[in-house]
Order: sequence, then C-alpha cells, then structure tokens
Amino acid sequence: MKNRTLLLLFLCFSISANSIFPWGFFAHKRINKYAVFTLPEELIGFYKKNIEYIEEHSVDADKRRYAVKEEAPRHYIDIDYYGEHPFDSMPRKWNDAVDKYSEDTLQAYGILPWHIQIIYKRLVYAFIAKDSDKILKYSADLGHYVADAHVPLHTTLNYDGQFTGQKGIHAFWESRLPELFSENYDYLVGTAQYEYSVLDFAWETVETSHNALDSVFSFDNILSETYEKDKQYSYEKRGTKTINVRSEEYSDAYHNMLSGMVERRMRKSITSIGNLWYSAWVDAGQPILDGMQNSEAPFTEEIKIDHKITKKDARGHQH
Ligand SMILES: [Zn+2]
Repeated sequence: MKNRTLLLLFLCFSISANSIFPWGFFAHKRINKYAVFTLPEELIGFYKKNIEYIEEHSVDADKRRYAVKEEAPRHYIDIDYYGEHPFDSMPRKWNDAVDKYSEDTLQAYGILPWHIQIIYKRLVYAFIAKDSDKILKYSADLGHYVADAHVPLHTTLNYDGQFTGQKGIHAFWESRLPELFSENYDYLVGTAQYEYSVLDFAWETVETSHNALDSVFSFDNILSETYEKDKQYSYEKRGTKTINVRSEEYSDAYHNMLSGMVERRMRKSITSIGNLWYSAWVDAGQPILDGMQNSEAPFTEEIKIDHKITKKDARGHQH
C-alpha cells in the first residue's frame, strides 16, 4: 500500500491543490477557548474578559481565504513534496528555504510554519504597544494557524486522500470526528510554558502531525475493506443541502482505531496555543495588562469577499 501511495503521490504532484478544510469551525473555536485556561495569573484575566472574541475569531483566518489571495498557503505545508526525507532537506529558516527552493515553490506548497512565526512576532509587538485590539486579533489568528499545524492532513499533498481513493478523509478526520466525539474529550491541559524558539516549535509540530499520517490513511483503508460500502456512508442534511458523510458506525470504528489521536491533537493544540500566547507576552517584557486601555467595541476585522477568488484559489470549503 505504502509504495503504491508514494508512487501515486509522485505522479500526481504537478499542482498542489491543497484544499483547506480547516479543523472544523467547531474544533477551532473550542481549541482557542480552552487555550485561555492554560494562561498564568497575569494574563488570564484579560483573556477571560475577551474569551468570546478569542473563540469567535478563531476562524477569521479561514474566512480570509475568500478575501485575500495570499491567504490559502498560510494554512498548510505539503511537506512530502520535498522528497523522501523532507524534514532533513527543508531548511527551517525562511530565507534559507527561499534560497534552496524559490519563493514561488514555497508559496505553491504552503508556508504554514513560517506564517506562525510572522503572526507570533506581530503578537509580541502588539503586547509591547499594549494595543488590546491587536493583541486579541493576533492571539485569535495565531490560535488558528497553530491548530492547523496539528492536523496531519495539513502536511501532505494527499490532503484529502485524493490520490489513494479516500476522498473526504480531511473533513472526516478534522470535522466529523470532533463533532461526533469531542464532547467527551478532556480539555484541561495544565499551565502554559515558555517556548524558546517559535520556528523550531512550529516545525516540530508539523513533523509530529506528518508522522501521524500513516495511521490516518491506513486505518481508513483497513476499515473500508472490512465494512460493506452502504454501511460506510450516510446522508445528512446541512442547511438546504444533503451531504454524504462517513456513517456514525464507521466513524466510531475509525475513531476507536485511532485510539485517542484526535483528542491528543486537540489537547496538544490547546497547550501549544497557550504556550505561544504566554511566550509572546514574555518576549514583549511582560507588560501589565490590567491597566490596559480596552476599547468599548472590540476590534473586528472586516472581511470582504472578493468574488474574483475562486474556490480553487481559496483551496477549500467552509464548514
Ligand atoms: Zn485554516
């Protein structure tokens, strides 16, 4: 199976059409919300006061894909494009990576780890400026990109199982499974810790996600061979549309086989986001947030849909 998969991957990677189905909106909101509870005393007050904003705006980054053309590649990195040992071949630093592969190539196959570093720096500057609007905006956005980096299917050319006959696996893993089962997950993950290097952290996260892909694909393969086709899928109404989804029974079997993977990745997302919010504040010199001016109406980014951006440019669906 593995060889066939690889062969198909290498035959098919002419254009990376990585469709960004995000962690479902549902999971993004939950992850950003619980990250607030990892924060130490000096920070938690401010974040709790604004927890609704942090939760609601966890998905702005995905909405922006339909407003800004450059947005899509910020949500993934198809790291397997870069050969058999991509984490050895790819330089971690942006300038070195551009020198080696060209900026066009990096943009074509995704820039997620570097974008985490950019948003992190913006958050540090927002803390230095004690600009509460920007602290909230960049905290919500950073939460989004960090959570995306925890999703195995955001790290591969075969992002939706399209090369291995497993179409739909992206939304199945990151939307359907959390929607069905995450009510019983444990979201208390402890207190935020300082991260010394955001870029190293981002790369290590992507690598861990990528290493989980083998299970993500192979368990679905094994199960789909044991289940009769008509038991694998069911139809569900979403608004006015009827969509074809993995059946509850099949989802349950797959979720069991993954033995806690989705919960572990959600928990790790929460820890990571808390760590980076906290580290950005430390890097900014630990400004005191209590006396910070807080605008009446929290800053809301106006996201204007650009109708020239096609679904293909935006690379995705909304959930
Ligand atoms: Zn995303």
